[in-house]
Amino acid sequence: MGICVQKFGGSSLATPENRAHVCKRIIEAYNKGSMPVVVVSAMGRDGAPYATDTLLKLVKTDNNKGNARNLDMLLTCGEIISAVVLSETLNELGLQAQALTGWQAGIITDQSHGSARILSINTKKLFSLLENRIVPVVSGFQGVTSTGEITTLGRGGSDTTAVALAAVLKTGYVEIYTDVDGVKAVDPRLIPDAPTLSTLTYREIMEMAHLGAKVIHPRAVEIAMEAGVTIRVLSTTTTGPGTIISSGKEVEQRVTDRVVTGIAHLSNRAHVRIAGEQDFNQSRLALGIFEELAKHGVSVDLIYLSPDLIAFIIDEEMSVVVKEVLAPFKLNISVEEGFTKVSIVGAGMHGVPGVMARVVRSLEKAGVSIYQTTDSHANISCLIKEQKLTEAVRALFQEFELSNKEV
Ligand code: ADP
Ligand code: MG
Repeated sequence: MGICVQKFGGSSLATPENRAHVCKRIIEAYNKGSMPVVVVSAMGRDGAPYATDTLLKLVKTDNNKGNARNLDMLLTCGEIISAVVLSETLNELGLQAQALTGWQAGIITDQSHGSARILSINTKKLFSLLENRIVPVVSGFQGVTSTGEITTLGRGGSDTTAVALAAVLKTGYVEIYTDVDGVKAVDPRLIPDAPTLSTLTYREIMEMAHLGAKVIHPRAVEIAMEAGVTIRVLSTTTTGPGTIISSGKEVEQRVTDRVVTGIAHLSNRAHVRIAGEQDFNQSRLALGIFEELAKHGVSVDLIYLSPDLIAFIIDEEMSVVVKEVLAPFKLNISVEEGFTKVSIVGAGMHGVPGVMARVVRSLEKAGVSIYQTTDSHANISCLIKEQKLTEAVRALFQEFELSNKEV
């Protein structure tokens, strides 16, 4: 029996019309002779009645951040509703389907509420449905601990559910259906006609995902890479080959031809700068500061460390915490909100001279100031003001001729 794992995102499930497209995809796969295992996200985006953000607002207020365990219980309802609605629709169309919660699908996680990791999957229930030719419709983004606590896998975690199922069911392949026709060189919300990338390596998509491209959950890519699962990202509503993500030789070959594959950005960053009169390293103040931040669960990025200046960025949500945590050090600290980290990504930029010069030149020409930079073998990131994001992305898009990529 061939099995094919298909994951459908929130916007693909938002309306009856969208769900009709989803059913068509599932029925097509079934009619081709493979048994679909379907994974669903909560229906719709913020504002839709059962969307994740809407559910969050039931308890989360400015004063109440919410208890992580309770929030997980609440949020999992979104995917459960989605799974029930879709399997009922499939049943009406004559395809036998059964909705499953994450735990009914056998997904066991660790105890990190809000960002749990899948530890194991017991496939007994899934196989018994498949053997009876009943399509399992699994609620994505959720699992249960060994002690019976309900957990979620982090925003975008349904991708992870789908890839983990593909890994454990040994399908070697997973289809991620969404509202764009594949992974684009740039977030299409910024450049609507950005080309769709036909192939990407795991490394490139991981880099893009970690640097802010929300099209796929980074953990999903990690699991795919470990288990050798090929991911295809494609549109629910339009036909087209989408984007193939794998480590295939052909992909690697093509990737080396490009200097820059794509642009990603991470918004809502606050820039923290700590200026010192004494040597930070000698006084062990740097160590103290980073230890204190870690103790309070503050994750820092774009770190710059020198004897007289420490600078880094944080999620704006953590601004208040950081100010409180650092106050006792009695240093000259500024925490400024309204920044974005914009990054160019490409495995081919390694060792190519002049890439940084092109970044600086094009941003300068577009009137975008750079506040800090960092780079690795496969990316260059610049910290810029949020209101300059569109100009910056357009300038980089043009400079690196991303509109000319093969589609
Ligand atoms: P889903 O609900 O299907 O999981 P997501 O919102 O998680 O959908 O991911 C799809 C969205 O990701 C697109 O609508 C697009 O706005 C955004 N996105 C950001 N960067 C990219 C990119 N490089 N390529 C494609 N989509 C991107
Ligand atoms: Mg998603």
